[in-house]
Order: sequence, then C-alpha cells, then structure tokens
Amino acid sequence: MTNRKDPQTVAARTGIASDTAFGAVVPPIYLSTTYSFEGFERARAHDYSRTSNPTRALLAETLADLEGGQGAVVVSSGMAAVDLTFSQLRSHNLLIAPHDCYGGTHRLLSARRDLKQFDVMFVDMGDPRQLDAAFAASPAMVLIETPSNPLMRVVDIRAITERAKKAGAKVAVDNTFLSPALQRPLELGAHYVIHSTTKYLNGHSDVVGGAVVCADKADADTLAAWANIVGVTGSAFDSYLTLRGIRTLFPRVAQQQQTALAIAKHLEGSPMVSKVHYPGLPSHAGHAIAKTQQSGFGAMLSFELTGGTDAVRRFVEAVQVFTLAESLGGVESLVAHPATMTHVGMDPDARRAAGITDGLLRISVGLEAERDLIEDLESALDAASKADAANAKQARAS
Ligand code: PLP
Repeated sequence: MTNRKDPQTVAARTGIASDTAFGAVVPPIYLSTTYSFEGFERARAHDYSRTSNPTRALLAETLADLEGGQGAVVVSSGMAAVDLTFSQLRSHNLLIAPHDCYGGTHRLLSARRDLKQFDVMFVDMGDPRQLDAAFAASPAMVLIETPSNPLMRVVDIRAITERAKKAGAKVAVDNTFLSPALQRPLELGAHYVIHSTTKYLNGHSDVVGGAVVCADKADADTLAAWANIVGVTGSAFDSYLTLRGIRTLFPRVAQQQQTALAIAKHLEGSPMVSKVHYPGLPSHAGHAIAKTQQSGFGAMLSFELTGGTDAVRRFVEAVQVFTLAESLGGVESLVAHPATMTHVGMDPDARRAAGITDGLLRISVGLEAERDLIEDLESALDAASKADAANAKQARAS
C-alpha cells in the first residue's frame, strides 16, 4: 500500500470532508479579502487575498498534486500563467518557443521580445536542424506545447527536456490541451507546467483562469511572490468553480476522447476533408510519441476542409449541435476557424509558416452523444460540398 493516491482519486476528492467548522463535505468558499491577525505581528496562514486565499490555495495544492509538482501558482488567466512562467527572464536571456504555439502566446512572447525584455526564437520543434540551431544559441528556457494548438503536432517532451538540461535551460510545457488526466510533463523531466484552467480543468466554459505548476518548491515560491507583486492571482470564486470542475475531470476527458476518436475516423473518410490532425490516428505523424508520453489522445482535433473560405463559411453556418466559438475543453462541442479566430492575433506570415491554413477548422469535442455530433458534421460537410461544387463550376467557366 502506498500513501500516494491515484490522480483520479485526488481529482474527485480534493478538499472533500476537510471542513473543521461544520463538517461540510464540499470545501467552503472563502470570499473575504482580508483576514484578522491573531495579535500584534501574529498573522494567520492568510492575511490578504491577493497574496493568499484558502480557496485558491486548495486549488493550487490540487493542481500540484495532479501534476506531481512541489507547488503551484493560480492566476487569473492562461495568458497570465504563460507570462508569469517567463517573468524572471532577463534582457540577455533567450527563450525557445514553438512556431505553432497558441496565437495569444505567440503574440505575448513577440511583444516581450519587441520590448527587449527577453529574446525569443520561434522554431519548428519537429525539425531537428532548427532545434540544433536553437540549442546552439544557449537558451535560458524552452517552451513546449504538445499537442500544439491548433495543428495537434506532438513533440517528444523527454528528448527535448534532456537536451535543454544539457544546455542549462529550464523547460516549461503548456499542458492545456491534455490536462494532467492524460499527460504529466513533470514526470518527463520538465520544470514547469502551464495551464489555461479555462479549458479542461474547469471544463464548463464559465471561468477564465490559469496556473503554473513547478517541479521545484523554490521556483513555485518565486513565481507566487511575483504573482502577488504584479497582482495577477486568481479570484476565490473562480478557484471554487475550478475545483468543482476538477472533480469530474477524469470521466469527462475519458468520454470526450472516445467520441473524438470516432469523429476523427469519420472525418478521415470524407472526400471534403483533405487532412485530419488527431494524434490518436495511426496516420498522425506524432502517433508513436503520443503513445509513449500520453495516457490518452485527448478530445481536440483539427482538419483541412477542401473548397477554401466559401466551404468554411458554409460549414460553420450549417452546424447545429457544434457551436462556432473560441476556447475548448468544455462539456459543449465547439468549432473554431483558427485563421480568423483563435490565431488572428498572430502575424499572417507567421501563421502561414506555422501551417495554419484558411481551410483549417478546429474542433473541441464535448459530452454530447457521438451520433448527434457525427450527424451534425455530416450535414455541415454536405453544405460545404455545395460551395466546393459551385467553386469548381466557376473555375471551369472562367
Ligand atoms: N495556452 C493554450 C494552449 C491555449 O489554448 C490558451 C487559450 O486558448 C491559452 C494558453 C491562454 O489561456 P486563457 O485564454 O485562459 O488566457
């Protein structure tokens, strides 16, 4: 018997039956911004909520436990988590980041570089020559996003981390797309895990939040102090909701990824779809690596629609069960057009270089019945094919 509980048990039972005041089974929320001192120079565990708050502290402990870290900092958004992770870099430091990372991350890192706060090299992490060149430039930190948003590219966390350690660099992995239910980067050697808790961890599309989990307690303390200094710590209410979401993380993700695989296989057979990006398909370039470092393939996928922008417009206007919206990881299925939505903040040349085409659509698979989702996609593909046929006719006429 070991004392270490399975992460699924940790998720389901976090804070349960720990209330000493009334024996409340569900941990209470502490909204108070301030806490009384026991006496002169005798602060209690919490004194002011920007600095620390019992509800937020429980969420941080839970995330650290789920990711196998020594501490976590809960902040007000995923972007705040990304920014916090790199907040200690100096102007002479180099950060290596994926060229196809989340558009908001690309925009933030580019802006920090332009302000000369630190240097950034965006590289295709699947290209060994680009990685060689990047490591030769002595990076201080490396950001990994796997699977990447929106192309679902998978990179080998352990291999990159080993190289980074030899180069004296620290590694941060954005684990938003899989959550600790399916991937635990600290166990693969990473120093930091970044989350947009807005996504799978909260899981109900009603909180914007973020977190950084650290392998090292000293790093967690440094980042917690910085989050307090700049005032980006997460709210008690958001923490409470996120804790509630985490209790169902494992069964949600298990169900969602099962439906995602069925959808990916279905799309692969459609003549309207030229490519499906889903790591669970044997045709996916990262399938083998995904199998070694993930315990599941997740519920995000993207695909290339033939027929250009007209087909995309008809497709997104035809869906009825899927909702055209940004974000991901909720109980409801969403479809997004990265070029005009999630990645519109990225420079168009950088977007093209990353392989994000105008025909690419991204899907977040929710908890609806598989049959309803597939039927919805079928009728939207049918609507898109009419645009394709009309384009072909126009091309023949001109
Ligand atoms: N990281 C990834 C991989 C994301 O997809 C997102 C948002 O979509 C973020 C970070 C930023 O998170 P937030 O929107 O909570 O700031």
